[in-house]
Amino acid sequence: MNAKITIDVVGAGLAGCEAALCIARLGIGVRLWEMRPSRMTPAHRTGHFAELVCSNSLKSDVLDSAHGLLKAELRALGSHLLMIADQHRVPAGKALAVNREAFAAGVTQAVEDEPLIEVIRDEYSHIDPERLTVIASGPLTSDSLAEELSRIIGDDNLYFFDAIAPVIDAETVDLASAFWASRYSPADRDYLNCPLTETEYSAFREALVSAEIVEPRDFERKRLFEACLPVEELARRGEMTLAFGPFKPVGLIDPVSGRRPFACLQLRRETVSGTLLSLVGCQTRLKYGEQRRVFGMIPALQRASFARFGSMHRNLYVNSPIALSDHHQLKAASNVFLAGQITGLEGYVESIASGLIAGINAARRAMGQQLLLPPPGTMIGALMQHISTADAEHFQPMNSNFGLIPPDGELRSLRKRERKPAMARAALDALIKWRDAVGLCLD
Ligand SMILES: Cc1cc2nc3c(=O)[nH]c(=O)nc-3n(C[C@H](O)[C@H](O)[C@H](O)COP(=O)(O)OP(=O)(O)OC[C@H]3O[C@@H](n4cnc5c(N)ncnc54)[C@H](O)[C@@H]3O)c2cc1C
Repeated sequence: MNAKITIDVVGAGLAGCEAALCIARLGIGVRLWEMRPSRMTPAHRTGHFAELVCSNSLKSDVLDSAHGLLKAELRALGSHLLMIADQHRVPAGKALAVNREAFAAGVTQAVEDEPLIEVIRDEYSHIDPERLTVIASGPLTSDSLAEELSRIIGDDNLYFFDAIAPVIDAETVDLASAFWASRYSPADRDYLNCPLTETEYSAFREALVSAEIVEPRDFERKRLFEACLPVEELARRGEMTLAFGPFKPVGLIDPVSGRRPFACLQLRRETVSGTLLSLVGCQTRLKYGEQRRVFGMIPALQRASFARFGSMHRNLYVNSPIALSDHHQLKAASNVFLAGQITGLEGYVESIASGLIAGINAARRAMGQQLLLPPPGTMIGALMQHISTADAEHFQPMNSNFGLIPPDGELRSLRKRERKPAMARAALDALIKWRDAVGLCLD
C-alpha cells in the first residue's frame, strides 16, 4: 500500500468511480471530487455517484456484439462497476440493464466503504499540473473547470456539442452505386461518393423533412443551433438547399454515367484503416430507425449497416488527437489524465472502460511504473487508440464497434456472419493474454 501518495479524481460519474476504485485497489490513496448535490448538472437528478442520466441499459451483453465484447473485456480486467451492474441487473433480453437507483447506490456505497478514498463534495476548478489527477467530469463538466481546461489546451480544442453524423460500416456500401474521388480530383480516393438522380434526391429530401426527430431537452435547445445545423433542418430551408450544400455535386463526375450527378452524398473515412465511413454534413436528430430508413433511400446505402447513429446534444469533450497523449494524459500536463466521455468516447460502458485504464495508469505513474494500454486488437485497446489517433480535423465522439479493430487478414476473409464472433473471441483472448503478460491484478 502507498497511502502517502494521493491522486485526485475529478467527477464521481462512471469513469471517475471506476478510476478511483481501481487506484485504491492498487494501494494508492484517492481524493474523489464530486460537486453534486450542492451543484447539479442539467441532467443529473440525485447526489448519488455513477448516476445513469438517461437509459438504464448498458446495451448488449452478447459476446459477438461490440458492446458485449467490451463488457467481457471489462469483466476479465476486474471492473468494479461492471460487477455492481451485474448485481443489479433487471431482465432486458440480451442487454445488460440495471435498476438505476440500486446501481448508483451500490457504487456510492462501494466508494464510501473504501478506506483509501476520501470523498470531497465540492466543485473542482483549478488544475494543478504537478499533481497526479484524473479528470472525469463528463459531458456536463462545470463551466469553471471547462474554462480551466480551455486555458490549458486552447479554446479550439474544446467542444461543447455533439453534432454527430451517422457512421457506417464501409463494407456495407454498395460500390456499384458509389465511386471514390475528391472534388475536382477524380484520381484521389479521399471520399466515397454516393450519387443521386433528381428523382432520388427529391424523394430523399421529402423523407428527411417528414421523418421523426428526437426532441432536444431544454438545456440543449439554446446553444445547439449556433453550433451547426442538422441535415433535416437544412433540407427544410428549401428544395435545393442540400444540393447546393453538403450534397453539392460540383467537381464530381460519376464514372458510370460520365456526367456530374444531380446531387451527391460524400462518405469520409472515420478510421485510419477506412473500415468506418461517416456521412459528411449529415449531423442529425432523426430517430435511429428513421436514420436507417431515410439514409437507406440513397442507392449506395440501401444495405448500409450503422456503426453509430447521428445525434446532436450538449456534450463537452476535448479534441483528443490534439490534446491527449497515447495514454490520455494532457500533452501540456502529463500528470493529468482524462477519462470518460470528456475524452470523446461516448457511452456508459465506454466511460467505465476509460476510467479503468486511466486509474491503472495514474496508479502506475504514482508508483514509477511504465504506463499500459491493451493491444489495439481488443475493444478497449482499439477505443483508446482511436481517441488519440483519429483525424483531429473531423474528430467526433465514438462508441465501441468492430470497425475500430484493425483488420486482420485471416478474420477479415471470413463470411460476415462468422466474422464478428471470431473477432470477439480473438479480442477477448488477446486481452486475457495481455492482462496475464503485464501481471495486472485488480482482485
Ligand atoms: C443528457 C444525456 C443523456 C445521455 N444518455 C445516455 C444513454 O442513454 N446511454 C449512454 O450510454 N450514454 C448516455 N449519455 C452519455 C453519458 O453521459 C455518458 O455515457 C456517461 O455518463 C459519461 O460518463 P462520465 O463518467 O464521463 O461522466 P458522468 O457520468 O456525467 O460523470 C461526471 C461527473 O462529474 C461531475 N462534475 C462535473 N464537473 C465537476 C467539477 N468541476 N467538479 C466536481 N465534479 C464535477 C458531475 O456531477 C458528474 O457526476 C448521455 C449523456 C447526456 C448528457
